[in-house]
Amino acid sequence: MNAIAPARQTDIVRENGQRSVFCGLTGIVWLHRRIQDAFFLVVGSRTCAHLLQSAAGVMIFAEPRFATAIIEERDLAGRADPEDELDRVVERLLERRPDIRLLFLVGSCPSEVIKLDLSRASARLSRRFAPAVRVLDYSGSGIETTFTEGEDRCLEALVPTLPQDDAPALLVVGVLADVVEAQFRRLFEALGIERVRFLPASRAHEMPAIGAGTRILCAQPFLHNTVQALQRRGGVPVAAPFPLGAEGTTLWVAAAAAAFGIPPERVRAVCEAGEARARTALAAHRSALQGKTVFLFPDSQLELPLARFLQRELGMVAVEIGTPFLHRGALAAELALLPPGSSVVEGQHVDRQLDRCRAARPDITVCGLGLANPLEAEGLTTKWSIELLFSPIQGYEQAADLAALFTRPLDRRTRLAV
Ligand code: SF4
Repeated sequence: MNAIAPARQTDIVRENGQRSVFCGLTGIVWLHRRIQDAFFLVVGSRTCAHLLQSAAGVMIFAEPRFATAIIEERDLAGRADPEDELDRVVERLLERRPDIRLLFLVGSCPSEVIKLDLSRASARLSRRFAPAVRVLDYSGSGIETTFTEGEDRCLEALVPTLPQDDAPALLVVGVLADVVEAQFRRLFEALGIERVRFLPASRAHEMPAIGAGTRILCAQPFLHNTVQALQRRGGVPVAAPFPLGAEGTTLWVAAAAAAFGIPPERVRAVCEAGEARARTALAAHRSALQGKTVFLFPDSQLELPLARFLQRELGMVAVEIGTPFLHRGALAAELALLPPGSSVVEGQHVDRQLDRCRAARPDITVCGLGLANPLEAEGLTTKWSIELLFSPIQGYEQAADLAALFTRPLDRRTRLAV
């Protein structure tokens, strides 16, 4: 098993400019799938409603679990009391949907512009509808958040509601697909970690406890605020890379094991078969991707672990690794695993970055939807970074699926070119 080496020389540049990313409302699309008795009520405009509908447009639900309470012009002009209107909307919603146990009021750009105090509204509504429904709030506004920060804000809002328990436990933080959670649970149980919890749980009343004995293992790299809130409740973060690819998964599991004093031989015995399966499944993708270049625009905050996986396990060459934020503490293990001389760019100056991308003509470009179409029109092959959040990609059994997200568009481009 590879130990994590101290950080090596990586070229980190910071850029200041307009970010070209979606807002934090996007996270509702995967959060509502995970917390099955939660409802997300965006307090926003028609633009917010359109964003959500198009982001979630591929899914059809008989009973959708998100909606937008539209702030009309008269609210913006101060001619109506938006608090009263919000109370009425929530009342109607909860009457119609008695299955809702957790209601998130999600702030947006318009609710921030009119300074609607959603924390006061959620406290007021929580008192009114307790104990059947808990009402929480967080901001998904594009003024405040980027694409994946919405999940961070949502989980951060849950932290004060978690029960206190100081007994030793492993807390895996970040939304994972059910199938991935089940695989990780089996691995940790095989290691002998007795109490393994996941935040968020799939039901409101099953949210995990937190306390001095909790070791926090992040499954996603964009949960900075949530981890800080968990630390304030006594939890201790475990430094680890993220579970993308065979190597990343083994190092992630090994870091958790070390936090519970489990010897490396036991980790090897538990991980061996899964890691071997993943490496075998990756071999075909490696021969297709070896030596190909990739350019990562800053979008999902998954860029560093992704670049590490693409380079170390698939032989690709990352020309530039953009990330909206670089939380050096949380990403220290990933930085240490990047090839020396890697070019990491924190923040974004979109015009300059587009120029560098066009000059490099990478084989594949990972970016947001807004940049993908123009770049495709210029003959570049792109991969939408949002797919990394919509697809199960963590763990041994998903390593080849993650690689396939990169082989497929290249293969399609080659076939179109014939
Ligand atoms: S929250 Fe802001 S950025 Fe997001 S859809 Fe609504 S108006 Fe647009």
